[in-house]
Amino acid sequence: MLIDKNETISDAPVCLCNVVLNTKKTLPTLRYNRASNMYQLYCKTCGFKTHERDNKQSVITDWFYSNRAGDRHIRECWVSRYNTQNGTAITLMGTCPKSRS
Ligand SMILES: [Zn+2]
Repeated sequence: MLIDKNETISDAPVCLCNVVLNTKKTLPTLRYNRASNMYQLYCKTCGFKTHERDNKQSVITDWFYSNRAGDRHIRECWVSRYNTQNGTAITLMGTCPKSRS
């Protein structure tokens, strides 16, 4: 089935940016690239995104594991991935590393 427009995945967990970055709770949006036949889930609020895959279920699974709530290790992975994707250096505790005074 082809997806012509972006579709919100309502039964997925909200993006962890609501915990890490204290943003509003945001459900992921499914994006389908017709040219490359690739699916991707991304967060409209912070831009966090899954890998691109040619299998819809695969990107949904990626999102579920990447954004599972209440797990510190998952949050650390999320922060690391977010930084890689955005060229930032946020930490688990906030948007900038604590400086030593
Ligand atoms: Zn987000």
